[in-house]
Amino acid sequence: MTRKTGLLDNAGVDTRLAHLGYDPSSGAGFVNPPIVRGSTVLFPDTDTMMSGRQKYTYGTHGTPTTDALCAALNELEGSAGTLLLPSGLAAITVPFLTYLSPGDHALIVDSVYSPCRRFCETVLKRMGVEIEYYHPSVGADIISLIKSNTRLVHTEAPGSNTMEMQDIGAIAAAAHGQNPEIVVTMDNTWATPLYFRPLDHGVDISMHAATKYPSGHSDILMGTVSANAKHWKALDDMNTNLGLCGAPEDSYLILRGLRTMGIRLEHHQKSALTIAQWLESHEDVARVLHPALPSFPGHDLWKRDFKGASGVFSFVLKADSKDQFLPRGRAFLDALSLFGLGYSWGGYESLAVLVNLSDRRICTAPEEGPLIRLQIGLENVEDIQKDLEAGFAAVRAL
Ligand SMILES: *Cc1c(COP(=O)(O)O)cnc(C)c1O
Repeated sequence: MTRKTGLLDNAGVDTRLAHLGYDPSSGAGFVNPPIVRGSTVLFPDTDTMMSGRQKYTYGTHGTPTTDALCAALNELEGSAGTLLLPSGLAAITVPFLTYLSPGDHALIVDSVYSPCRRFCETVLKRMGVEIEYYHPSVGADIISLIKSNTRLVHTEAPGSNTMEMQDIGAIAAAAHGQNPEIVVTMDNTWATPLYFRPLDHGVDISMHAATKYPSGHSDILMGTVSANAKHWKALDDMNTNLGLCGAPEDSYLILRGLRTMGIRLEHHQKSALTIAQWLESHEDVARVLHPALPSFPGHDLWKRDFKGASGVFSFVLKADSKDQFLPRGRAFLDALSLFGLGYSWGGYESLAVLVNLSDRRICTAPEEGPLIRLQIGLENVEDIQKDLEAGFAAVRAL
């Protein structure tokens, strides 16, 4: 790492992405790190074995491959340590299990990624954790929801599917001001550390589905958890207790994905904004939910805190009555051919889904029509637009 460290200090983000995490001169000179597959690590003698001096001791405790990825993520996040987990959902559940005990109270944003709520309603409730959902616009008023047993405040911005922004800095400052032992977590999957760095805004633990943009090719599942110095040890200990670790090929491929993530995100951002602006002026669209649009309620927060927008947003298709929601939404989606119908965004290809918000308590479904979430991929934007036009034509033909 010595050769690169100083070199990258003042470098631009794409330069850093091209060189972070691994120094070719530390190995045999090959540009990329080796894929180390391993359970057993050998020690030269009993003295080394018993002293705890050796860097690598067992496959679950890190390898040169996983270390390269973790080093890159720590630089991007500004974190003290990063865990690699088998999915983005595990990147939420492992920190929750680390901190929440029977009798604790957890505040969860209502616009949360839906499987996170399912975990809260099942596993955490069974454990006797009290769960309370709050409005994403709460800001510093989070104080009024904090109780003596509040242990964790979970944020996600923009919110899943409905894209609500949150004043992350105000929430973290207020929660820590009330009780410094409260853990503030953030699911930062949408922005990636390139467009928002949670720890710089007072968040303790930043969670990601690396499945999405870091992978970039819809072929890997991985979660990452990056923590500040105060919380790194507890997380790392829990991870050891649970026996979780990152797989070697997946870790290698996520690091490979990071190399191009900056330029991919720029392209996603530009095309998504072009499509969002076009949809906003479309007569069959009631509303476009994209934080980079000045018309969006959370736009000012996005502009103040975020460095960019990725390629996922939603829009509300116009409908005259509730009974038209489902047929119109389905006609639109079924007429698309370039867009795949699929959930896990962040890859190179465009995707669309009809959003189900039936588990929401506060941030409920739009009244004007069905909500459709789009991931704008790396295809040419004119082709993407043409495909969406086919969707509108099918709705008009109903
Ligand atoms: C996809 C996603 C996850 C979960 O990622 P998986 O790897 O699919 O488990 C978590 N949070 C957000 C916001 C996501 O979009």
